[in-house]
Amino acid sequence: MDIDVAHKALKECELRHKALARRIGDIGFIWQGSVSKRYLKCGKATCACQRDPDSRHGPYYYWTTKVAGKSVAKKLDGAHAELLQEWVKNRIEMDSIIAEMRKVSKEALEAALIIAEEEQTASKKPQE
Ligand SMILES: [Zn+2]
Repeated sequence: MDIDVAHKALKECELRHKALARRIGDIGFIWQGSVSKRYLKCGKATCACQRDPDSRHGPYYYWTTKVAGKSVAKKLDGAHAELLQEWVKNRIEMDSIIAEMRKVSKEALEAALIIAEEEQTASKKPQE
């Protein structure tokens, strides 16, 4: 990569990186784990839920996450579930933006190194 191409590539990476950073700035609260909706069978042998999946009880909402490698679940009420669902969605979006920023940074490194080496060489040249 020649120095002009490196400058152009770096500039382009900076713009993409800034655009991603701006998207992060607009994201609301974030929450770990995931929220799921479940329909469950009860303990009564005569209840319709035992035979008919459409007659199962619910929905019941659960928030699940991993703590020290183990999956833990917590039951949530409707309003709580709705909020956390939104915040989990925000976190997933943030994670994907950060993954994209990592990719852009990796691309930027090659160009940034070429520029840094060029600047070092230039500063070491004897003065004429
Ligand atoms: Zn039942």
